[in-house]
Amino acid sequence: MVIYCCECKSDVKARLTDGVEIYRHRPDLHHMPFWKCDACKNYVACHYKTAQRTAPLGCIPNRDIKIARMHIHAILDPLWAGNRKQRGRLYAKISEQLGYQYHTAEIKCLEEARKVYLIVKKLAEN
Ligand SMILES: [Zn+2]
Repeated sequence: MVIYCCECKSDVKARLTDGVEIYRHRPDLHHMPFWKCDACKNYVACHYKTAQRTAPLGCIPNRDIKIARMHIHAILDPLWAGNRKQRGRLYAKISEQLGYQYHTAEIKCLEEARKVYLIVKKLAEN
């Protein structure tokens, strides 16, 4: 499947694999499907609990993007804390300010992550 890879900074032909390869020492994850970029060895998990169990969660992140997303979630998640309606409102606000539909799993580069971080930080202050 063609998926954007944050490390290669381009669309790559990702290979479908599973947790046996990605998380060798985590037998509990062995059944999960993953898409892997063989050029840089990064990977993305799938919506494996849905009917389309090999649909990727988003683009293929590298280490920096994963860390940047964690910083965003650390501020964003407590703002809705399990309240799905509130979560919807927050994501709508972020999308509105970005000018496109926001999904954390779709963040492709650090510039984008920084932009989202600043928006989320402002939301947290209000
Ligand atoms: Zn790659």
